[in-house]
Amino acid sequence: MTSDTLTSDTQTASVQPAGPICDESREERILPVLADWRAQVAGAVHPTPRHAGAERADQIPREYALLSAEELDRRIATARAALGDRVVILGHHYQRDEIIRWADARGDSFKLAQFAAARPEADYIVFCGVHFMAESADILSQPNQRVILPNPAAGCSMADMANIAEVEECWDALDALYRDEGNSDRQAVIPVTYMNSAADLKAFCGRNGGIVCTSSNAASVLRWAFARGRRVLFFPDEHLGRNTALALGIPPEEIVVWDQRRDFGGIEDDATLLGARVILWKGWCSTHQRFTVEQIERARREYPGVKIVVHPECRHDVVAAADYNGSTEVIIKVIEEAPAGSVWGVGTEINLVKRLAREHPDKTIFCLDPVVCPCSTMYRVHPAYLAWVLEELVAGRVVNQVSVDDETARWAHIALDRMLANKG
Ligand code: SF4
Repeated sequence: MTSDTLTSDTQTASVQPAGPICDESREERILPVLADWRAQVAGAVHPTPRHAGAERADQIPREYALLSAEELDRRIATARAALGDRVVILGHHYQRDEIIRWADARGDSFKLAQFAAARPEADYIVFCGVHFMAESADILSQPNQRVILPNPAAGCSMADMANIAEVEECWDALDALYRDEGNSDRQAVIPVTYMNSAADLKAFCGRNGGIVCTSSNAASVLRWAFARGRRVLFFPDEHLGRNTALALGIPPEEIVVWDQRRDFGGIEDDATLLGARVILWKGWCSTHQRFTVEQIERARREYPGVKIVVHPECRHDVVAAADYNGSTEVIIKVIEEAPAGSVWGVGTEINLVKRLAREHPDKTIFCLDPVVCPCSTMYRVHPAYLAWVLEELVAGRVVNQVSVDDETARWAHIALDRMLANKG
């Protein structure tokens, strides 16, 4: 790393999506420090609001802050060519086009982790996604491979809503409650964590007879869990858990929410938990939380015959009002297989929706939310970061490596292997 560094990242106006931008995704909130730097160089006063994640932003040499989009492209191409097969670049569907164009593979978190595991010849896996994805790639890849997250500040706000201390506190409370229940042929509670969680939570599931799920195989995973336990503790996404449980026929009164911010999860009496079959963590995705039934009703009014497809991280009323729901890969497949001339209102991240619209010009495809709101954490992977980490690799230096310790990786691998056996 050069000595001349500054925190956070950069953005150019040319890659800002068109249309009104939601507050959470305004460039200067996501990329605050580098925006400050650019403004200082331009001589402007720039009182930037601090985004909560900014404190986690890593260092980037300041020369990258001021490179044009064209220069960044040129340097990425040169570095990538120099590295050849030693590097594989992975791009999550929610990444901006300026990143996706460099990806050797694009997919959801699970598909990309599988792709990484299938490329043992690559020394470096540059994961253009968010932190938990890079951790999973590190767990599933070969010991000699190094996984790099271009901007370590690219986290996931949903994954951050569950940490190991809170989950263990909940687990201990449930254990104390269910200990005297009797009938011990099955475990009292099976922990299930969504792929969107930190490695130590996956390890927690591995240690405690639990499993990881994705949005593609959540139903299959819940069936697996109910074959082994009387209940499921599902974290961190309340909505995926509820949507999946209801689809499996579990009545709403047997589904309860554990609010980790309140004493005893905010649950007033033991009977509620004793009667529960699914205990949902109170976490959510800020991107998918934006979709509403009103947006669906408006789309149906404005586009007669429109079909609606949404992600199961949306609230249940939204999923119930849609024609289809499914993981990112399911959404892509449904639209790919739709007839020419069909019209689709889509409830998922804007970069993916815009890409689908561009790749299927014979169909009308639009985002249900009229306000452009990219996943603000994915958005932190800017081409400046990609150029930087690739050029460092060419120079023989590894920056921004994501590495999971052996003990955590061992247990997390067990939970991931159980997931792999439940393809959905
Ligand atoms: S879209 Fe939601 S769940 Fe996915 S990375 Fe962004 S904040 Fe996390």
